[in-house]
Formats: sequence, structure tokens, C-alpha cells
Amino acid sequence: MRIVITGAAGFVGSHLVDMFLSLGYEVVAIDNLITGKRSNLTVNKNLTFLEQNVYKYIEVEGKVDWVLHFASPASPIDFMKYPIPILKVGSSGTINCLGLAKAKGAKFFLASTSEVYGDPLEHPQKETYVGNVDPISERSVYDESKRFAEAATMAYHRFHKINVRIIRIFNTYGPRMRPEDGRVLSNFITQAMTGKPITVYGDGSQTRSFQYVSDLVNGITKLMDVEYQLPVNLGNPNEFTILELANIVKKITNSSSEIIFKPLPDADPKRRRPDISRAKEILKWDSKVSLEDGLKKMIDYYKSIGLTKV
Ligand code: UDP
Repeated sequence: MRIVITGAAGFVGSHLVDMFLSLGYEVVAIDNLITGKRSNLTVNKNLTFLEQNVYKYIEVEGKVDWVLHFASPASPIDFMKYPIPILKVGSSGTINCLGLAKAKGAKFFLASTSEVYGDPLEHPQKETYVGNVDPISERSVYDESKRFAEAATMAYHRFHKINVRIIRIFNTYGPRMRPEDGRVLSNFITQAMTGKPITVYGDGSQTRSFQYVSDLVNGITKLMDVEYQLPVNLGNPNEFTILELANIVKKITNSSSEIIFKPLPDADPKRRRPDISRAKEILKWDSKVSLEDGLKKMIDYYKSIGLTKV
């Protein structure tokens, strides 16, 4: 098997690279390194790294069995920092990846997101829910480019008969999420570990459901092994308020940080929890890692890269 992964030096992409290498596959890892890190990739004779902007062009020689499109900044702070690259990687980037799959006769796998549901009016969110997205909010660059990416994927599937997979990834965490990433768990853990105030946005009553990265990787592998072209939610259905989460992190890190409240970002979804019955049925998959166990592994990772308690 020869696999192309875009966003391969990022948080999720790099875990996929490790998994494919462990299976003895050849991997072509593409990243423009705006949020990914070269150091997330190991040295391996079966791994080729290409520093390319997938929304400009993709050049890969030789046969390819799968194209996995995982490139995109995905943290809400990146929505303000990199709005145009996000729009481009989800639109032209997806078209280029689909074009590569078409040219190589490869299968195509899209990393989509729970953000396609926007601020959901249905709870929990099933794949059949079409979403509640504000097209001009600060989050819209990510939401709309991923919605476009799904539309493009289905169009190439229907028109060009490309064999596709689409996953909608719900909040995921684990080692290699950058300490400065800006998402809630990396913020809370780094703040708790360094004795800084834990920043809860809004009143902390908004909810999220957190999936450990190995559960996600497991679901991705299973979906590659079945024939199913419609979107599949991958997430952990255990739902927490953000204030609960702040207290859990504080307790696990044994931190004396105070919890402070900051303004809620634009269009921040009020509730989010995946309905994973489709994944359970089609993939015989379920999330396994508890929040407590996952958090401990993420804390160990931050310790290993030098983040220490003060
Ligand atoms: N959040 C927070 N403090 C932070 C970072 C995030 O309270 O330091 C909140 C954010 O407002 C949102 C939730 O945590 O309601 C999850 O945010 P994240 O950035 O992880 O991703 P999202 O799920 O919003 O895409």
C-alpha cells in the first residue's frame, strides 16, 4: 500500500503516519508546516516528506492507493490567524487531492468535522442533520470550507466514480496537540501545569465531547476497510460543560490555578455531542479511552516536551 496524507505533520496526520508505517505501508507525507511540525514525523525508510501547499499544486510520483486529506488549521484561534489558507485548503486543496486520487486511480478519504453542524439545533448530532451554520461568522472560514470539501467529495464520487470516505471528527485531543494550539484542552492543561489562570470562555455552560486521538485513528482504519461513502461521525459521546472540564483538568494536574472567565468567541456552538450509532453499526467501532486516561497521556506528553509545573 502506498498512501498520501496531507496535513501529515499535524496533530492527527502524524498519528496516522505512525499507524500506517507500523503496518509496513509506504507513506508520502505532505504538509506546508504552517501549523504542523516536521518533528512530529519520524525518520523511516518508508516515509517521504514533501513540503507543499496542497491548495497550489500536488506533485506525487508513482502509484498511489489512497489519498487522505487531513490538511487544515483547525483551532478556533487559527480561524482568525489563517482565514484565507483555511478557505483555500478546504476548497482548492480538496479539489487538488480529489484530482490526484482520480489521476492515480486511488481512493480518497476526507477529514471533515463536527463544525459542519455549526451551532446545532439537533442534539446529539446525527450524520443526517444538515446543520446550522452562519456563513459570515469568524468560524465560517472553517465550517464552510469543510462543507464545500464534503460537497466536492460527493460530486467526485457521483460524477467520476471515485471511491470516497468522509469522517466528521468531533473534538479530539492527545499528544502532539501543540501547547500553543489554542483549543480548550491544550489551553487548560498548559495553564494548569504552569500555574496560570484557566481561561473559561463565556460562563462555561457550553458543552463538548472529547475523543482521545487513538480512538479516532482506530475508527479511520476501520472505515478504510469497509465500503461506505456517506459521512461518518467519529467522536466520544461523553459530554461535559467547559466549566466541568476546567475543574477536571485542575484536579488531574493537582493545580492551584484559579479559573477565570473571558468573553465567548463569535459563533461558539452551545452544545456538541456526536451520535455515533452509524460508526457503531458500520464499523463495529466505539470510543474506548476515558477522559481521565486520555488526559493523563496528554499531560505526560507535555511533560516530555519540557512543560513543567511552576
Ligand atoms: N474554550 C474555553 N477556554 C479556552 C479555549 C476554549 O473556554 O481557553 C471553550 C470554547 O469557547 C469552546 C470550547 O471551549 O466553547 C471548545 O473550544 P475549542 O477551541 O477546543 O474548539 P471548538 O469545539 O469550539 O471548535
